[in-house]
Amino acid sequence: PVPVVAIDGPSASGKGTVAARVAEALGYHYLDSGSLYRLVALAAMRAGVPLDDEGRVAREAARLDVRFEGARVWLSGEDVTDLIREEICSVGASRVAALPAVRDALLDRQRDFRRAPGLVAEGRDIGSVIFPDASPKFFLTASVEVRAERRYKQLMEKGLPAKLESLSKDLAERDARDAARTVAPLKKLPDAVLLETSDSGVEEAVAFVLNEVGR
Ligand code: C5P
Repeated sequence: PVPVVAIDGPSASGKGTVAARVAEALGYHYLDSGSLYRLVALAAMRAGVPLDDEGRVAREAARLDVRFEGARVWLSGEDVTDLIREEICSVGASRVAALPAVRDALLDRQRDFRRAPGLVAEGRDIGSVIFPDASPKFFLTASVEVRAERRYKQLMEKGLPAKLESLSKDLAERDARDAARTVAPLKKLPDAVLLETSDSGVEEAVAFVLNEVGR
């Protein structure tokens, strides 16, 4: 089977950057599964669908018209790369991600990313639900303070509005919701390698992952 490297972990743990860099180094495809939940939230909000209406949100997820091209993403022909990073989409993503029918609707779409020569996929349930046979699996994490700082810097660099205090609070709330939900809760799997990145940089994490993949 086509190899899959799974990188799961909480928001702003650096897994997006690490996964993209690892994929580039290996010449593998790359799946940012969180962007799908962000896109579903955006599509639902635009369609006026309440984010707790499971059936209707799942229908939006099933008919999501999305195109990934390099680091950019289009929703129904519109470049929404920066828009889906805004806090309203982060919060919305975390809400729709708690709905089992929405997760089901995104299953095949995620599995379709598995193409030769390989895939690096990141999210919350990559190693548990989407690609349980992935190898190796990683759980990337960092303290909530460090993650809030990172998200703050990312948003500032993009010229997007950000307040450190509310980011930190939102992150903690989303972590709690992601860990407490009944479907695919966020947790480290027994067969995942723990990578704590509070003190180390992205470079070190990338090197570590590449080394593990090469074993
Ligand atoms: O990783 P990112 O912060 O972009 O994900 C946004 C939200 O989508 C997360 O807070 C989480 O609730 C949800 N998510 C998920 N399962 C995934 C990826 C993301 O539930 N595989």
